[in-house]
Amino acid sequence: MQVCEGRPDAGPVRELLPARAVPLGESTVVRRLLPTMGRRMVGAWCFVDHYGPDEIAREPGMQVPPHPHTGLQTVSWLLDGEVHHRDSLGSDVLIRPGELGLMTAGGGIAHSEQSPDPHSPMLHGAQLWVALPDSQREREPSFDHHRELPVLREPGATATVLLGELAGARSPGQVHTALVGVDVTMESGADAVLPLEGDFEHAVLTVSGAPDVDGGELPAGSLCYLGTGRSTLRLRAETPSRLLLLGGIPFTEKIVMWWNFIARTGEEIAEARERWQAELAGEPTPTAAAGTGSFQPGPFGAVPGYEGPALAAPALPPSPLRPRGRTR
Ligand code: MN
Repeated sequence: MQVCEGRPDAGPVRELLPARAVPLGESTVVRRLLPTMGRRMVGAWCFVDHYGPDEIAREPGMQVPPHPHTGLQTVSWLLDGEVHHRDSLGSDVLIRPGELGLMTAGGGIAHSEQSPDPHSPMLHGAQLWVALPDSQREREPSFDHHRELPVLREPGATATVLLGELAGARSPGQVHTALVGVDVTMESGADAVLPLEGDFEHAVLTVSGAPDVDGGELPAGSLCYLGTGRSTLRLRAETPSRLLLLGGIPFTEKIVMWWNFIARTGEEIAEARERWQAELAGEPTPTAAAGTGSFQPGPFGAVPGYEGPALAAPALPPSPLRPRGRTR
């Protein structure tokens, strides 16, 4: 295999990325797999949270008040339970296991995510973000709820294509860079070989069980980065296992990711924050002339039907936010 010069990370690797426990709100702790210190993106996938399985029968479950996003797509994927999504476009849907909630923030959107009342006793899922390329990051916001996704079946294994394409099966979800996201469910003793795009980089997140991924066990809640240059991925499960395959063309633009915003400069982040805070305060929002660049964050808008206050943005860090690449 040829290794490209100047791309020291090109080619297949097997790099275990440990999860970081991050408290969300008052009662929830999630495992954050991306970004990490040395590995910030896999393709355009730039944020991976795995939560649960949590027993929430006697608890409110997920309760995330309205908050804004820019420059990214959010991918809501449930393994157990359900999430009520509302957004500033007026979307009001219940997302269930096997269904894709795909929100394209573009220049600005606000949404809330809540366990409905009543709700299922268990909550288990993944919250993923996809960075939009520069040409698309100011597009009109949209939300799509795809209840039907392509499912590939082999003895003992099923693969649901969330985004992109696997073995000719293409997700209806619209993406803006070449990428793939697949949920693979395996029974005890199942063996599977997934076809991969050789110029993509890939990673696998185990959400339950402990499958063998490319020759090594990957326990639940762990992410394994697999690098580029692979045409297949071998999976084996001794016990019932479930995993997410994430991949895409390496994302070469540097981005600034802060709170719920993705931008290209610290100034754009500060403008997006200012715009959101002004909307929360009911003040006239900064006009186009107030911006220092071409990026016009927002308006984000209110989330119809949500009762209660929206989330205020945290203070900006004292040191400037700098654009960062996919590995550092
Ligand atoms: Mn969000």
